[in-house]
Amino acid sequence: MSDCIFCKIVKGEIPSTNVYKDEQVTAFRDINPAAPTHILIVPNRHIDSVNMMIPEDEPLVGRLFSVARQLAEKEGIAEDGYRLVVNTNAGAGQTVFHLHMHLLGGRQMRALG
Ligand code: 5GP
Ligand code: ZN
Repeated sequence: MSDCIFCKIVKGEIPSTNVYKDEQVTAFRDINPAAPTHILIVPNRHIDSVNMMIPEDEPLVGRLFSVARQLAEKEGIAEDGYRLVVNTNAGAGQTVFHLHMHLLGGRQMRALG
């Protein structure tokens, strides 16, 4: 996906504050943070959204959770708590169509309901 901003971040073609990288996953700080810790965790391979997941993506998506857990520890928010969010399509507020998980923490979160 040559015009995808997160593909460009994964490839290092546009600047980002990376906090984690391996052969499958990249994590970097959100440019417009909604909490003291706001990290985006993305698969290196382009997937538009959860709607485009295939069964073979399950280990990769599981890995997003593992990286989130590690980063929460590292950020010092694991004990207090953190929120993992995956917006899917415009109605949920998805603005970048490269699957990503938000890791949010460092402040009290309001209940969803
Ligand atoms: P969504 O609304 O799609 O769930 O989340 C997209 C997130 O990407 C937003 O929180 C937005 O601030 C962040 N974002 C958009 N463009 C960039 C960018 O170029 N760099 C970084 N680090 N974050 C971005
Ligand atoms: Zn992409």
